[in-house]
Amino acid sequence: MRRRDMLLASAALPATAASLGQSGTGGPVKNTVISSANGLAACKRAHEILEAGGDTLEAVVSGVTLVEDDPEDSSVGYGGLPNEEGVVELDASVMHGPSRRCGAVGAVHNIKNVARLAKLVMEQTGHVLLVGDGATRFARTWGIPEINLLTEKSRLAWVAWKQSQRDSSGHTNWTNWLDMPDDAPRKQAQNSLRRQFPEASDELLAWAFSVAKYPPTGTINCLAVNEKGEMSGTTTTSGLAWKIPGRVGDSPIIGAGLFVDQEIGAAGSTGLGEENIRICGGHTVVENMRHGMSPKDACLDAMKRIARNYNGDLKKLSRFDINFYALRKDGVFAGASLWSGRMSHGYMSAPKFAVNQGGESRLEECAYLLERKV
Ligand code: ASP
Repeated sequence: MRRRDMLLASAALPATAASLGQSGTGGPVKNTVISSANGLAACKRAHEILEAGGDTLEAVVSGVTLVEDDPEDSSVGYGGLPNEEGVVELDASVMHGPSRRCGAVGAVHNIKNVARLAKLVMEQTGHVLLVGDGATRFARTWGIPEINLLTEKSRLAWVAWKQSQRDSSGHTNWTNWLDMPDDAPRKQAQNSLRRQFPEASDELLAWAFSVAKYPPTGTINCLAVNEKGEMSGTTTTSGLAWKIPGRVGDSPIIGAGLFVDQEIGAAGSTGLGEENIRICGGHTVVENMRHGMSPKDACLDAMKRIARNYNGDLKKLSRFDINFYALRKDGVFAGASLWSGRMSHGYMSAPKFAVNQGGESRLEECAYLLERKV
């Protein structure tokens, strides 16, 4: 075995990983909703709809609508971090198990609830994917209001990002460089931001600099099964911050950011979408379950395919993160991450996913492929 393979193989079986990441009894199916960690409220809302006898797709779409509406979640819907031109550009997909239909939208401007828009594509057209201006015009047909999705918080972060872009001599047109002391470009940028956003707290400015330096991803994927074993899923996102306009990630790609097979189960993903698209992750996870893998093993196998695309080069793999979520038709579920720990704004935390099987939602720890050493 080559050294690189050895590193990957030994990292692939961390001592704690065996017990992490998978739950569910496999007994009589309970109404169950899982999502990425930002979906505690979404799972609760979706579960309430399942309990009331509602459709599984209506449940997950209503759940993620809460996150799309939330200006504080800067990875989804209203308040999402924008593209490099300061325009919030959203992607979403839905799959409905019982009817085996799906719909998706990509690079949509000015429409907040794109999961619902994807559901309309599924219900009202013979198409699967509408993008860009066509998707916005389609929304207009159905009377969906258009709004500016860029909040002041996200605009502040965008300006901080623009000011951080420099040529090789350190020059930027986005600060008053004639006044700038040689050794203090960051201080200068901070002062100029403070003048433009006088209400911004130190904490908000620190967040803006952090997301400018490390462009975050973020998304919500939400999957549901009801007591009859009917399944659906949705994924909705503002995608990668500061992306090139028109960039579409994995979230609206059926088979990558989301896949549901009513006979088997459902899977979805968050994290760097390009890596997921390369392995058709959602479909791969469901196919793995079809061939007998547990939800957890199915996710970890997909993760191994991502690692293999870099020949297990840990340095390259350390530059991104990705997560899979899987819910089998019998109610067994799992979440898995590429890395054991996630760096966010200077802190390391264990990756988690949200679950609701009645009452309050809870967070469970994800299984992981690789152990991150600080
Ligand atoms: N997967 C999304 C994308 O690449 C972003 C994310 O989930 O963080 O657009």
